[in-house]
Amino acid sequence: MQLHADPVTVIVRVRPLLAAERANGDVRTCRCSGNTLVLDEPESPHMREVLQLRENSALMHAATPLASYTFNFDHVYPMSSSQADVYERTALPAVQAVLEGFNATVIAYGMTGAGKTFTMEGTSGDREQRGVSPRALEHIFEHIRTCTDGSKRFLVRASYLQIYNESISDLLKAERSALAVREDRRRGLYVEGLSEWVVRSTAEVGRLLARGQSARATGSTRANELSSRSHAVVLVVVEQASVPPGAAGANGGDNAGYAAAGGGGGSGRHVCVGKLNLVDLAGSERLSASDASGARLQESKKINTSLSALGNVVAALSDRANGRLRAHIPYRDSKLTRLLEDSLGGNCKTTLIALVSPAAHAFPETLSTLKFATRAK
Ligand code: ADP
Ligand code: MG
Repeated sequence: MQLHADPVTVIVRVRPLLAAERANGDVRTCRCSGNTLVLDEPESPHMREVLQLRENSALMHAATPLASYTFNFDHVYPMSSSQADVYERTALPAVQAVLEGFNATVIAYGMTGAGKTFTMEGTSGDREQRGVSPRALEHIFEHIRTCTDGSKRFLVRASYLQIYNESISDLLKAERSALAVREDRRRGLYVEGLSEWVVRSTAEVGRLLARGQSARATGSTRANELSSRSHAVVLVVVEQASVPPGAAGANGGDNAGYAAAGGGGGSGRHVCVGKLNLVDLAGSERLSASDASGARLQESKKINTSLSALGNVVAALSDRANGRLRAHIPYRDSKLTRLLEDSLGGNCKTTLIALVSPAAHAFPETLSTLKFATRAK
């Protein structure tokens, strides 16, 4: 069965101007209408300088005139959009695919401060403002709760990892050794040594995600910085076993967690497995030349390795889908793409959410994010 004609759904979300930006007299650069976003180059001499530097180093344009750039995507979420709106078109189809036994990936891309974590996690304590990840898990448990025909039992397992400097570590374990991605016939693609937690309710997952988030933020003395310089991936595996009618232990009011209850994998059972990857990427911004030395430079190169490898994979997938032949999809060029190899392209549901800031000072990064997102279409 073909899941989806487009290998990658590309969605852009523009966050509102923050109070501090408004106070600074920052102007808005983004206009949204339907699936179209128009980005206006702000009229400041400083902005022109930044742009010229960037363009000159990449290409040989003498100068960049003030301009408007028009982009079309599968969907554009304007500043006024709510967390619930965004969930409807991004994670909802992904979760539906996972519940049907497919793999799916939702990726948040953008510069630091553009709204990746807000979109993926939301703000804790405010239900309206919860993000894609908690909503996706609620949806999964709601599906399980309402699946009352007794013929199916579910097992949901969650893991939470981080990729920092091209090294994978477990955010739900105290020890932080580097983990490797492996593949074998029985397990498929997996991260060796990564802890997997059987979860039975939204509340349980919430606690797990909160634990991972605080580990992500406090794992280093450069706490806040690290979270913007590492990729965080929540992995959720949903297994469904069809239980023959009358089989012992079928359902009984609690159909989540069959293996934990001692049942998993018995013969005669048909097991269907779907995997959901929720990815909050490192900030896509480039370091300015003065910042880029020593360890910072190495780190920055590694972030760029993963992000450009992701861009290449996604572009190769869409080339292939558009009939431009590409024999090779370069999954092995980074830890991130290797990890997502079984969940990007092919028969998977992949959604890229590009987050942008409408503030004038962010114009160069906004333009570069929109170009990245365009390549993915
Ligand atoms: P990132 O993870 O991309 O670095 P954050 O998600 O931390 O960015 O967002 C930066 C700031 O902007 C935070 O204070 C966040 O609450 C706010 N913000 C981001 N997106 C929105 C939005 N859609 N609506 C309101 N505030 C937002
Ligand atoms: Mg963040």
